[in-house]
Amino acid sequence: MGVLAVDLGGTNLRTGWCDDSPGWHAVTAIGWRQQGFPLDIEWLTAHLQHQIAYCETSVGAVDAVGIAVAAVIDPKTGNVKVGENLGWRNVALRTLLEDRLRKPVFVDVDAFCGALAEARLGSGVDQEHFLYVVLGTGIGHGLVLNRRVWRGVHAAANVFGHIKVGLGATPCYCGGRDCLCQYASGDALTQLAKLQGPPLIASGATVIDAYRRQERWATEAVETMYQTLALAVSHAFNLLDIACVIFGGGVIQADFPDLVDLQQRLETLVYPEIRPIILRRAALQQDAVLTGAALLAQGNLRGEAL
Ligand SMILES: [Zn+2]
Repeated sequence: MGVLAVDLGGTNLRTGWCDDSPGWHAVTAIGWRQQGFPLDIEWLTAHLQHQIAYCETSVGAVDAVGIAVAAVIDPKTGNVKVGENLGWRNVALRTLLEDRLRKPVFVDVDAFCGALAEARLGSGVDQEHFLYVVLGTGIGHGLVLNRRVWRGVHAAANVFGHIKVGLGATPCYCGGRDCLCQYASGDALTQLAKLQGPPLIASGATVIDAYRRQERWATEAVETMYQTLALAVSHAFNLLDIACVIFGGGVIQADFPDLVDLQQRLETLVYPEIRPIILRRAALQQDAVLTGAALLAQGNLRGEAL
């Protein structure tokens, strides 16, 4: 079954076609935020129509579209309840796109898609239970219990970024204060970088590069990130008694964050009986969410319970 997978994040929009054989075709990526595209249904529809037309003439049929969105989604309707990083609230995404694209469309939370992909094909294949933490523009999560993604009572079990880490009184866009995402997300690092240098080149990667050069402001920022991230992750270990946390998302690099450093912090924060503490990077890296969107579409076409 050929599907168009879509990863709609707070900064980038990626699409790709795949079928049941390994490998991606016609992969595209747009930095919609930096390029100033209006992220509305009309623009998104036009973009996806173009991708579907290209795939169907060049690589194969598109039997369905799977969309992973950085938002809270109603799983029954495919409606976006709220996606702060997209500027969306109460958008009937599935219905609107099915009407316009004339294809089956399946919508899910990006972190849930990433967790599903890591559980089936990535760093979580040998783990029955794990927490997948997405360090991107914001911070999300997908909790895998008994190899299934736990969606929560309100379908909102993806808001790890809003765990309170209590380092002061920093307000968050969610209305709360001292949320993890205000200290440890790509956006938090980017905001800090903008205070230090020319805003046009400022990004989370700017901070990480400066950290490698041991510039003091970046060292302080990364120390705060590690401290708050370790605190939040320790809450997950202590609450759930899981053994493994997998880090994914756009902020992750081959050597960042330093998992040995995080592990040492966690050894002192996690209850002693909860051992081992296993920390991993997402094996599917930046493709985890896109892969999960494809699994979402293919699974739904087959009538699988995901
Ligand atoms: Zn918050």
